[in-house]
Amino acid sequence: MQINFRWSPKNRYSIAALGAVLGDYRLVRRPEAGVMLYSFASPQAADVYREVDAARTARAAHDSIFIAGGPHPSGRPEEAAEHFDYVVVGEGEATLPELLATLEGGAIREGGRDVSGVRGIAFTRDGRFHYTGPREEVDLDRCPPFRPPLLGPIEITRGCPWGCAYCQTPSLFGHRMRHRSIEAICRYDGFYEDKRLVSPNAFAYGSDGVRPAPEAVEGLLKSLTGNVYFGTFPSEVRPEFVTRDMMELVTTYCANREVHLGGQSGSDRVLRSIRRGHTAAQVVEAAACVRDAGLTPVVDFIFGLPGEREEDQAATLGCIEAIIREGGKIRAHYFMPLPGTPLAAAQPEKVAPEIDRLLGKLALGGRLTGSWSPQRTRIKTPRRHLEPKDAKTPSSF
Ligand code: SF4
Repeated sequence: MQINFRWSPKNRYSIAALGAVLGDYRLVRRPEAGVMLYSFASPQAADVYREVDAARTARAAHDSIFIAGGPHPSGRPEEAAEHFDYVVVGEGEATLPELLATLEGGAIREGGRDVSGVRGIAFTRDGRFHYTGPREEVDLDRCPPFRPPLLGPIEITRGCPWGCAYCQTPSLFGHRMRHRSIEAICRYDGFYEDKRLVSPNAFAYGSDGVRPAPEAVEGLLKSLTGNVYFGTFPSEVRPEFVTRDMMELVTTYCANREVHLGGQSGSDRVLRSIRRGHTAAQVVEAAACVRDAGLTPVVDFIFGLPGEREEDQAATLGCIEAIIREGGKIRAHYFMPLPGTPLAAAQPEKVAPEIDRLLGKLALGGRLTGSWSPQRTRIKTPRRHLEPKDAKTPSSF
């Protein structure tokens, strides 16, 4: 069976991680004969479905098998199964090779080998949706982060014990933090001079994700060579993990001049409602701690969160202004409901005109980037500041 990954710059990390556990595969830019693998997030879903629907009705692709994975299909497997033959739900490293091996045992359209024993997949048969159920979490040490020549970032941690209502990470990877061992990480040290490490919360390396474990972080950082970028793209850190100890480790062992923080709102009421588990004051304190260490804090905020009122937006703006006054930078986002999250069915709130105007003014000053309302076009930022959501989930197929 010819295995084809549908290439897109947005799914390169998924391909790097999953390609490492597959045999030979090709990168293709359109549907081709064989097995077609697609990994995608919600903004790409409509285009992907259009392409797959057209290919499946075309004669040339009649014998191809279409398999979907990634954040969107994992959050909406029933929807994805209307377009694809199979959907890999959640982590792909164990599920995808097993599914492919099972399919290779026979021509599926002629009723070849039974795939119902493959855990972690969804499909439609005779008009009925089937999900084979969750499977065990993979052991990161047994799954390479990439296989040359296609390189990806080194994923050091997967899963998150927090339950932020807008975030797909816990539903994709579970609530338990799993860390790649230092020994396994160091096997990939030599592939890069500039090392970027992937984690939902980089400063939580080696910990349970609730209390920092600086000794584990130091063990990791002192084992790596070259320029290590830690707590910055393509990762970020939670504010309460920013401590003087942690910043000392960054300034001692790392090359980054910025630390990227998830702040999300300046309103404690909103932070409680989205279950962030920290306060607005902690966000400002964390930014100050980064600045005191001589680095620039870059803080994410989301506007339009469900239930957010104008006074909440004003509180977020106040928080943003305080961080900018102290030399920080802001990345603004507009809330997008993501499948598989508690807020999947929620509608974004409008951004009040005066808040919108003031954010625009800050953007013109160059300290704020991103798009904070549907009307706003994204303000371009240097590439390393653009953090595609799928960068955090390199192996959610
Ligand atoms: S936003 Fe960050 S801290 Fe919250 S659940 Fe997602 S990964 Fe965890």
